[in-house]
Amino acid sequence: MKIVINSGKVYLNEPCSRCGSEKRVAKKWKETIPTLTGTTVVKHTQIVCMNDVCQMEADEVLLKEAKKRQDARAKKEENDALRKASILASANKTRRNTSRI
Ligand SMILES: [Zn+2]
Repeated sequence: MKIVINSGKVYLNEPCSRCGSEKRVAKKWKETIPTLTGTTVVKHTQIVCMNDVCQMEADEVLLKEAKKRQDARAKKEENDALRKASILASANKTRRNTSRI
């Protein structure tokens, strides 16, 4: 995706996929993430639609998706805990059975 700088404002040469309005780079930031070999810098760009209504809807969708991801992660952690507990329980049972022999 090419970024076009026009009269001091940064626009993207690709219109919004939802409403066809111009999109703007709202925020740019760098994030330092620790890795096995040290750290790596990831560049982030937040792009917003120039159409306020469209952007508001997009924000809502993003929020919903983030919530869905969070729910899925919580569910996975719950399942992992249950699995761990059942493995422990069956391991204990095996140990009890063995000691009886
Ligand atoms: Zn839009």
